[in-house]
Amino acid sequence: MPYPAGHLIFFVLLLFPIALYGFAKAFRRGKLQRSDWWYFLVLFGIGSFFSLFPDISAVINLLLYGARGDHCNIGTLPTHSLLFASIAFVGGVLPGMVLYRQWHKALAVGVFAEAASLSHLLLDDMDNGIITYLYPLYNEPFSLFPYLNTGLSAMGVMYYVTALAGLLSFVLVVLMAFLSLRYLGFGFTYDPFKRED
Ligand SMILES: [Zn+2]
Repeated sequence: MPYPAGHLIFFVLLLFPIALYGFAKAFRRGKLQRSDWWYFLVLFGIGSFFSLFPDISAVINLLLYGARGDHCNIGTLPTHSLLFASIAFVGGVLPGMVLYRQWHKALAVGVFAEAASLSHLLLDDMDNGIITYLYPLYNEPFSLFPYLNTGLSAMGVMYYVTALAGLLSFVLVVLMAFLSLRYLGFGFTYDPFKRED
């Protein structure tokens, strides 16, 4: 599994680069106010946190059992699953509601947090991790990147289906992050959020 720094780098370079670019451009032009930094830092914090979120199992196991425990499970609950990763959606909507006080903006923060959390699963998967994507519907781990993990030795129809699903998942996660960030004003050109009240 990549170290936390690996997940953070993956998040910054793949999910957050356009937001960084647009914000840096506005900064150079002296167009930023203090409140803009606040929105930027909260979104950056939410994305960073949820890009590490599925590994919360390691922290909880450390606290519960005092030793470096299982990376992928809390007890019998796999944290590297779509179900667990979707907690990030709620975990994004709640601070999004506090920050923007508008449902549609809060939902966009939720989608962004979800993308960050899903990027963790994909990166761990690429690195030979045990990802139980479909828990509790299907409790066996499988990889969406068979060409990285098993090489060309196990080619068959399922090989291509999962490889295609992996590629599409990757594109989907990047799009979720870009589109939700753009909706929040963090596109190629930074568009400051103006409160309507
Ligand atoms: Zn992990």
